[in-house]
Amino acid sequence: MAEFDIIARYFAPLAGPGARGLQDDVAAYAGQVLTKDILVEGTHFLPTDPIDLVARKALRVNLSDIVAKGAQPTAYMLGLVWPKGTRDETIANFAQGLAAEQALSGVTLLGGDTTVGPLLMISVTMFGRPGPRGIIGRGGAQVGDRVFVTGTIGDGLLGLKAAQAVPPADDIAARPYRLPQVALDIETVVAQYATASLDISDGLVADARHLASVSGVAIELHANKIPLSDFGQLAKAEGRLVDLITGGDDYQVLFTVPPDDVEAMAKAVPAGRQVTDIGAVVTMSDKGKVEVIGTDGHPLTIGPGGWDHFA
Ligand code: ADP
Ligand code: MG
Repeated sequence: MAEFDIIARYFAPLAGPGARGLQDDVAAYAGQVLTKDILVEGTHFLPTDPIDLVARKALRVNLSDIVAKGAQPTAYMLGLVWPKGTRDETIANFAQGLAAEQALSGVTLLGGDTTVGPLLMISVTMFGRPGPRGIIGRGGAQVGDRVFVTGTIGDGLLGLKAAQAVPPADDIAARPYRLPQVALDIETVVAQYATASLDISDGLVADARHLASVSGVAIELHANKIPLSDFGQLAKAEGRLVDLITGGDDYQVLFTVPPDDVEAMAKAVPAGRQVTDIGAVVTMSDKGKVEVIGTDGHPLTIGPGGWDHFA
């Protein structure tokens, strides 16, 4: 069974008020937004990744869910499973990574649990304060809205390949995998202007489909507008664009903005933060459909494309 089918079949019936049908990036509870993401050694990071970056990544993948909802991250709880015999120095470096990320994002630690097990696992539950319009969900996109994405796409995938060669801690090719470039300061823009928003954890196309299907619309993206890093441009030149846009965990924010608000939104983007118009919300017979138009004007052929841990 696929990951989303498991959630829909076994867990959605247990969900209470505020769970948002288990179809959003966060839950709403007691005036707060909450999210949880787990990192497992060998699945979400490599045993050879620098441990301070693993700690920072564990916070970032949660921070991206919170800011994508237009909420301000505030605090987190931390569950840790360490392999038996882990050295104090490793845990000290891990804690240093958390400290660095706390300083950048403003979150603080509330509590957690520390135990041992067969491999390193990090479970974070993060809290945030919603913006003035409340949680920006996946369901508000309207036909005519423009579609925007932060940062660049595909670097998580390329970074994994680089990280597998176990380069030095500061290797720039592996960096986007080891420490995703989350748009930490985008929440005010999302809170004010977005009609729908989510973070990209399953690949650009798959997450655009999630947004389109909850909103009951279709989305048309333009291949040549999708922002790529220098490494991404090289991969595209080798014909790997579809890999980049279906490749998984970029932790960038994808959001929709009504055409009349685009100019004001662009002015509100924090200095140094990249936000790119990559397409539009359109009507198509198929709700939830995402088409990526290639340079020849025809839609690219993309399979079910999207990350599924159970596939
Ligand atoms: P994200 O990628 O934004 O973190 P996921 O794809 O992991 O979201 O999860 C999709 C939805 O399913 C979310 O609402 C999440 O809270 C919910 N979910 C996932 N796993 C479980 C679980 N074991 N129990 C309850 N809800 C879950
Ligand atoms: Mg998410």
